[in-house]
Amino acid sequence: MSKATDYLQHVYTVIEQRDPHQAEFLEAVHDFFQTMTPVFEQHPEYIDANILERLTEPERVIQFRVPWLDDAGHARVNRGFRVQFNSAIGPYKGGLRLHPSVNLSIVKFLGFEQIFKNALTGLPIGGGKGGSDFDPKGKSDNEIMRFCQSFMTELSKYIGLDTDVPAGDIGVGGREIGYLYGQYKRLRGADRGVLTGKGLSYGGSLARPEATGYGLAYYTDEMLKANDLSFKGQRVAISGAGNVAIYAIQKVTELGGKVITCSDSNGYVIDENGIDFETVKQIKEVERGRIKDYADRVASATYHEGSVWTAQLAYDIALPCATQNEIDGAKAKTLIANGTKAVAEGANMPSNPEAIAAYQAAGVLYGPAKAANAGGVAVSALEMSQNSMRLSWSFEEVDNHLKTIMQTIFAQSVAAADEYQVSGDYLSGANIAGFTKVADAMMAQGLV
Ligand code: NDP
Repeated sequence: MSKATDYLQHVYTVIEQRDPHQAEFLEAVHDFFQTMTPVFEQHPEYIDANILERLTEPERVIQFRVPWLDDAGHARVNRGFRVQFNSAIGPYKGGLRLHPSVNLSIVKFLGFEQIFKNALTGLPIGGGKGGSDFDPKGKSDNEIMRFCQSFMTELSKYIGLDTDVPAGDIGVGGREIGYLYGQYKRLRGADRGVLTGKGLSYGGSLARPEATGYGLAYYTDEMLKANDLSFKGQRVAISGAGNVAIYAIQKVTELGGKVITCSDSNGYVIDENGIDFETVKQIKEVERGRIKDYADRVASATYHEGSVWTAQLAYDIALPCATQNEIDGAKAKTLIANGTKAVAEGANMPSNPEAIAAYQAAGVLYGPAKAANAGGVAVSALEMSQNSMRLSWSFEEVDNHLKTIMQTIFAQSVAAADEYQVSGDYLSGANIAGFTKVADAMMAQGLV
């Protein structure tokens, strides 16, 4: 073993011994380390500075009780988290997730990924993530509001314009950000820059709701073009029907692709005429309904229970936009047998290690989450800039910035992969480009 592989193995063992039960966090770290050997071979100074052990330990972990009253007057208790992972290049930045599966392992995996994603955007933002095991499904508006107010009562002690700026993630959209911001304002005063994803009338940015989905389509378009392909005439499978999926459907369709599926955690729809963006938006954003409703409304669509990635269905491009580990090795094989030439990730870590290995073995183009879905956080950072300048840019202006940022992320990943002799490996390229930026900032700042 070389000094580099020795070091990577040693640090991974330390992390595994420290947090043996944090499966998602260990998976994210393991996947990341697998791409780091060429960097540590060329830069022994990172080993001397023990940069990886420092980088994998969050600067701060905050866990708190969130008591709230349900509509029947019963006291309920959830667990809240904020992981302030790394501030080497700017204030902690990353979303809040409300989903029953949320635990410290999931928040740490998301926060770890966020460090490098944020670095790739080229904007001055560090990495953080938070959330709660609260389940918003089936809750009334008043229950959501009471939960958000209680959550923010505690979280407000730890966030701020120049320290930590949360945003949305699964289960947190415009409604929740509004309640969270309202409570922050009552407690600490109007400070628009403390949350992003706000409504337009109180400091939000045009194109923020669209940003992750559009950004995913722009990134994928770059990846396809670099390989003499394009969206035109291609059949595209998308999972999820939330914020990311909805706007990915819209932009992919505009770029000439035909999206034939989308899904939720119960099942998926197939529409051979192409999924109609307006109908999905109406069902999910306005009515807060289920994706099954789409098939009840659109004659050309059929509904099926289960995961979309088990369907035998011809498509060229797959864009997973639901959740972590939605594609395992077996599902990846189905997706490849279905004819997939490219996978780009809208969700965070939707492909498990066996799935990634299967794509690589089959020569499928693979755009990893931290590069492909960075558009959301990039526009969040642009929202912070607009708040600081007390200006609102037009939709076109924000969208143009977004497009340029996604093109630059792809170009940086290609350049880093070339520099470290792993050309065409966009996963290694993204990891290396993000890592070197953060590591160099940490080295410059001394032992932090
Ligand atoms: P939403 O809550 O808006 O939508 C999530 C979608 O994924 C829903 O359709 C949901 O179905 C489905 N889903 C969630 N959990 C599961 C599960 N366990 N199994 C199957 N389907 C599931 O979230 P977003 O669209 O915002 O987020 C989706 C993904 O994109 C997440 O991985 C998130 O971290 C990532 N992401 C989001 C960004 C953003 O700006 N919003 C930025 C970057 C990444 P159901 O309604 O049935 O739960």
